[in-house]
Amino acid sequence: MKTRMLKIEGPGKLALVEKDLILEDDEVLVRTFQSSICGTDKMYYRGEMPPNEKYPLFIGHEGGGVVEAVGSKVHEYQVGDLVMSFSRSCTFADYFKTKPINLQPVPEGLDMRIASLGEPLACAMHSVLESGVQIGDTVAVMGMGFAGQIMLQGARRKGATKVIAIDILDGKLKLAEKMGADVTINPSKEDLYQAIMGLTDGKGVDVVFEAAGTQESLNACSTILKHNGHLVLYSWITQPVTLNLHRWHQNSFKVITTTLVHHTKYERMVWTEKAMRPFQQGLIDVEPLISAEFKLSDITEAFEEAVNNDEIIKIIIKP
Ligand SMILES: [Zn+2]
Repeated sequence: MKTRMLKIEGPGKLALVEKDLILEDDEVLVRTFQSSICGTDKMYYRGEMPPNEKYPLFIGHEGGGVVEAVGSKVHEYQVGDLVMSFSRSCTFADYFKTKPINLQPVPEGLDMRIASLGEPLACAMHSVLESGVQIGDTVAVMGMGFAGQIMLQGARRKGATKVIAIDILDGKLKLAEKMGADVTINPSKEDLYQAIMGLTDGKGVDVVFEAAGTQESLNACSTILKHNGHLVLYSWITQPVTLNLHRWHQNSFKVITTTLVHHTKYERMVWTEKAMRPFQQGLIDVEPLISAEFKLSDITEAFEEAVNNDEIIKIIIKP
């Protein structure tokens, strides 16, 4: 099967190459309905490589589509099944192939536009479900990108009485307000610590989600969390950072790492159905988080926009 596929040749260097996909016995061939750009794809584009990875690379892990063919040893899927990608399957392509374990079935009745965002949605929702947020809590979300906006809505649904959105970009805070944030704080304009203490009688928040992925945001999280609070770590940080762990120990934080796809694949298979349920039930608003749509042939422009326009939340790519 011939397909166009995105190849990243080096920092800022993308090429849409023609590839012939040869299906192995234990693989599934998927016709792409939609893929999308993740924060981690932007890292590869910017040259912020994690250890042990080298260019050239074929990236793209978010996406969904229709099963076009299956190898003779595949029993999990049939031609015509709707699936979501949960691993690096090179989804920036007309077609992609992968092992069945890297896919999940699309939940019954879920629109393909939302289902194709299954991986980032399930990861963010798993974070919400595992965060320990309880009725009556005050919750802070650090970083109002795609995941942060889901966490904000999820924390509200779990019964948080006050949800505080934090970001250094006003556009993202404005969207957070629309998504239901009670308070928004821009730490580049006001003192975050003072603002949080003012909102929590000097105690700090019950739960903080770290979804910004910088040294500053991680350290800020540990200043605004209350004694014994839940520090929910979501971001993937590929570069070394310096952390002040004093309060992690002294105030006995409960630290939880929550990105679903970094748990075992078997755990992911168990969790995905539950993590996708709130989207299936229409409890979380996803459509406002889709900032732009590009054609696969315009993928270079899409990456440029994703990297240079700070107000962008999620860009989707259609073959
Ligand atoms: Zn992702």
